[in-house]
Order: sequence, then structure tokens, then C-alpha cells
Amino acid sequence: MDFGVKGKRALVCASSKGLGRGCAAALAAEGVDLVLNARGAEALEQTAAELRGLGVAVTAVAADITTPEGQAKVLEAAGEIDILVTNAGGPPPGLWKDWAREDFIRALDANMLTPIALMRALLPGMCERGWGRVVNITSQSVKAPIPQLGLSNSARAGLTGYVAGTARQVAEFGVTINNLLPGIHDTDRATSLDGGVVAKEGITMEEARRRREATIPARRYGTAEEFGAACAFLCSDRAGFIVGQNILLDGGGTNFTI
Ligand code: NAP
Repeated sequence: MDFGVKGKRALVCASSKGLGRGCAAALAAEGVDLVLNARGAEALEQTAAELRGLGVAVTAVAADITTPEGQAKVLEAAGEIDILVTNAGGPPPGLWKDWAREDFIRALDANMLTPIALMRALLPGMCERGWGRVVNITSQSVKAPIPQLGLSNSARAGLTGYVAGTARQVAEFGVTINNLLPGIHDTDRATSLDGGVVAKEGITMEEARRRREATIPARRYGTAEEFGAACAFLCSDRAGFIVGQNILLDGGGTNFTI
């Protein structure tokens, strides 16, 4: 299938590694020119060089996307953008009584207000040109909140609410906004979550992973490549009628009929 996006320009945030990188690589394979971002310049430059090997133009901007300064730097380098993939690291786990106002502000800034700021900056141009795609990387916890991820649950619920309304206000201009909800995927984030279980339970990393895999009907972790393929489809010209959806990629882990 021809995705119909060759020559478009995408900004993929937090994309030197993990799910963001998977999205960037899948878009590059469809001939999309890229603006990549991450805080650490070294891994970012390496990813940029590898993706240039697929024959697309890649601009790399080292910046913290969750700060106004970082957003301004990225948006200035990005220029006109047809496809926006928002992403950033997730907030730390914890216990409800340990979180103060400042913890919530940090989580809201990173996982709610940053994607909203980027959409506010780029949606007007997409609407004016009559074509655009936005995919926000959120979490399966949007559908099935995870108790120890209260900061993440709160921030992502806010973003999900914003997208539900906004997606329906921009659809008539040929612009779609959807959210992709990862379950457990084989990235540094999964390694760090498994590391937490190792420390708490005194088991090996292999055992921690085996136990987690046993809770997933697919009996394995997802891959960044699979995640990227789903993202590239949502960003394709073929996906123009998919509007304001929250799409789970979790190997069947979240059991709902709606
Ligand atoms: P990851 O493997 O840890 O990768 C994170 C990427 O984002 C790296 O390139 C990192 O580079 C960059 N990054 C992190 N914070 C950034 C910031 N403030 N500004 C710019 N770049 C930043 O994480 P992942 O597994 O791909 O997860 C991506 C998102 O999906 C997270 O929000 C996570 O909570 C969510 N999620 C993941 C899973 C999973 O199983 N993997 C499940 C549910 C939800 P630098 O560190 O150099 O900045």
C-alpha cells in the first residue's frame, strides 16, 4: 500500500530511542523528511545519521521538549510541518500521598501541556494547507489507569480530553489528531520498569520480564518497529477518516469491549 506521504515533513519529538525512534524510522521508510528531537545530542545524531541512510532529509534538534525554550528551538528549526508526533519521557511512579503541586506541574508540563503547545503552534498551518496529521504517544493507562502512575494518569487524562474536542474541530480542514496508547514495549522505559521490580522483589531481570510477559495475551513485549508501523499508518494519507481515536497497542493486555 502506498501511504501517500512521500516528501511530507514530520516533527517527531523525543525520538533518539524507543517508541519515538520507531515512529521516525517508519515515517522515513515512507519517504517522509524528518525533524528529530531528544535532549542528549550523541544518541540523537546517531539516529539522525542512520535514518538519513534511508534517503530522507533529517534535521536533529537537541533540546528538552518539555520546556518553553526547548519547544521554541525545535519549532524554529522545524518550520513548516505536515506530521507531528508528540512524545516525551513518562513521569516517575510513586504513592498518591508523596506527590506535591510541583510534581503535578512537572507531569502536566511534560505529558499534557507540551503536546498541547506543539499542536497550538502547528495546527494553524496544517489547517491552512488543508492536510495534517498529529499522533500523540500516550499510554495504555489512559484506558486502564495504573495505580502507581498517578502523575502519568492525571496528565494523560488531561491531554486525552483536549484531543477529544480539538480533533473534532480540525477534522473539516483535512487534519486528523489521534492518540496511540502503548502497552509494554521493549525500550529503555520497560527495562527501567523491570529494574524497579527486580529491586523490590529481589528477582532477576529475566524473571521480572517473564512475569510481566505472562500477563500479556501475546506473551511478549511489543517492539518499537511495530509501534512505528501503526504510527506511520495513522500519519498516512489513507487514514484521513480516523479522527480523535485512542488506539491501544498492548498485545491484548487491556480487556475491554468498547
Ligand atoms: P524511552 O525508550 O525511554 O525513550 C525516550 C526517548 O525520549 C529518548 O530518545 C529520550 O532521549 C527522549 N526524551 C525523554 N525525555 C525527553 C525530553 N524531555 N525532551 C526531549 N526528548 C526526551 O521511552 P519509550 O519507552 O520510547 O516511551 C515513550 C513514551 O511512551 C513515554 O512517555 C512512556 O511513558 C510512554 N510509554 C511507554 C511504554 C513502554 O512500555 N515503553 C508503555 C506505556 C507508555 P533523551 O533522554 O536523550 O532526551
